[in-house]
Parts: sequence; structure tokens; C-alpha cells
Amino acid sequence: MAALVASRLRDIPDFPQPGIVFKDFTPLLADGAAFGTLVSDIAERYRGTVDVLVGIEARGFILAAAVAYELGLGMVPVRKAGKLPGETLKESYALEYGTAEIEVHTDAFEPGQRVLVLDDVLATGGTAEACAQLVERAGASVAAIEVVLELAFLGGRSRLDGHVVNAILTV
Ligand code: 5GP
Repeated sequence: MAALVASRLRDIPDFPQPGIVFKDFTPLLADGAAFGTLVSDIAERYRGTVDVLVGIEARGFILAAAVAYELGLGMVPVRKAGKLPGETLKESYALEYGTAEIEVHTDAFEPGQRVLVLDDVLATGGTAEACAQLVERAGASVAAIEVVLELAFLGGRSRLDGHVVNAILTV
């Protein structure tokens, strides 16, 4: 799976700011066979062990929706501040580039639900850490955090101590 992902990722230099090399996974999404293999791989590793999927805006939505459908489970969006219409919980965090706030609906989960958090990239870990805090504040439990790509040199995993973190490809 790692080799397939590696073959469908590309580096975009100086995006979204000079000096950042952005890992673009749109070629992976555009390849139906590769995307299907990725979704099945994630779904089968968690089948029967999670109750609901969380996708982090925006690329996490694509993955979480597909894996949730494959597992016959629901999907909860964790969104950038100001996008969700209902009552929300909010967390602020620092990004590799800039700062951000994310939110989840206060009533998004049943108490104690086991949540699989999905995102495309784990960089500094701020986004995943904030998301895990939101899930727990909303009364659910983080079963695992799954990313397609981990940028290990940014040390994001160290901010997620106590959580199961899995990356399909680590660079
Ligand atoms: P972190 O909070 O771990 O520093 O950043 C992770 C978040 O920023 C993820 O939601 C991810 O989508 C986005 N991100 C950061 N760097 C990259 C990158 O190089 N490529 C992609 N696709 N997303 C990135």
C-alpha cells in the first residue's frame, strides 16, 4: 500500500507559501483503482472496531466518507471555524503554516462511540491533536488516527501520545 501511495503523490514546491513543499494527493484520488484499494485497505483494518468516522476538512472528508460508506458507518465532519450550522465545540491550534480553529457539532456523537479519525497528511500534528480533543470533549473516544502520509521530520506523532496513530506512508 505504501508503494502505491508513494507512486500517486506529488510534491508541489512553494505551496501554500514559499519554502513549503506541499504533498499533493489528488493524483491518488484521480486513479479509481488506487483510490479504491486505499479505501478498502483502511476499511478492512478497522472493520468491527470503530463506530463512526471523523473526517478533517477538507481532504479528510474525502477519505472518511468513502471509508464510512465501505463500512456501513456514519461520518462526522470536523470543520474549519464558522462552517457548521449547529452548536459547536471549538479548538485552536498552530499549523505548519499559520494558525487555525476547527469545530465539531456538540451532538455529533453518541456517548462512548469509538471514532476513527481520518486525514490525508500528519505534519506538525496540531490538526490531529485538536481534532482528538474535540472528539473527546464531545463525549466519544478516539480509537485511532489514520493518515495517508506522515511527515515524520515534523514530529507530529509526539503530540498524539496516548493515541493509536497509523500512517500508510511515512517520509
Ligand atoms: P498539521 O496540523 O499536522 O501541521 O497539518 C496537517 C493538516 O494540514 C492536515 O489537515 C493536512 O491536510 C494539511 N497539510 C499540511 N501539510 C500538508 C501537505 O504537505 N500536503 C497536504 N495534502 N496536506 C497538508
